[in-house]
Amino acid sequence: MKILVAVKRVIDYNVKVRVKADQTDVDLANVKMALNPFCEIAVEQAVRLKEAGQADEIVVVSVGSKSCEEQLRTALALGADRAIRIDTDDGPDSLSVARLLAEVARTEQPGLVLLGKQAIDSDNNQTGQMLAALLDWPQGTFACAMTVTDDGVEVTREVDGGMQTVALTQPAIVTTDLRLNEPRYASLPNIMKAKRKPLAVIEPAALGVTVASNIRLLSVEPPAGREAGIKVGSVDELVDKLKNDAKVI
Ligand code: AMP
Repeated sequence: MKILVAVKRVIDYNVKVRVKADQTDVDLANVKMALNPFCEIAVEQAVRLKEAGQADEIVVVSVGSKSCEEQLRTALALGADRAIRIDTDDGPDSLSVARLLAEVARTEQPGLVLLGKQAIDSDNNQTGQMLAALLDWPQGTFACAMTVTDDGVEVTREVDGGMQTVALTQPAIVTTDLRLNEPRYASLPNIMKAKRKPLAVIEPAALGVTVASNIRLLSVEPPAGREAGIKVGSVDELVDKLKNDAKVI
């Protein structure tokens, strides 16, 4: 079985995000970028399936500018076999990404497509679902466990208040949640080996897709700053402040 894994370059989750002074977007100047954590989990899952003899090839694909080749190389160092970058500006919207991924999936014909449940920069949580709709393939979202069966894949999903297990026929789309696995670190020899693994660049036009967003970002605002806490001298003072200052009781 071939596994296609979609990976996105995002701001490293350790970075404190700054908003541009004119509030038009997040400031990406000199900011450390990384593989989206949920995509890292998707790559790890693909590698584990290959190590278990249930997959024979892992293809990672990213939609973006040349800079996202850094994250594709990371995925290759973690165990993917080859990479594809679909050349666009940074920040195509989810539907464009899903359309491009759908064409790659039609060409590559994987048994399984793995995506993160969500990119931590845009927080959209929709690309996997859109891809499943475009391809008309079954989807298992928010996977916290999965088992490849003879004719498909069983996915345990984290849903409100519990777990739900679904059986999907192949080819299937699975989006990964936090508890699916704990990704490994790439070893230095594997980082070196990854430099020689194949990385193809494809233009959207070659896939017959025009990248056009029907969403315009109007403004970005940082969260409201939190006020410093205070110490109260007595229970009466606490109750008074909750009633009259915070107005929560
Ligand atoms: P989102 O729907 O934007 O929250 O992203 C969910 C998942 O879709 C990510 O974890 C990736 O697996 C995939 N994805 C989103 N954007 C891209 C992109 N530009 N290139 C490749 N995969 C992407």
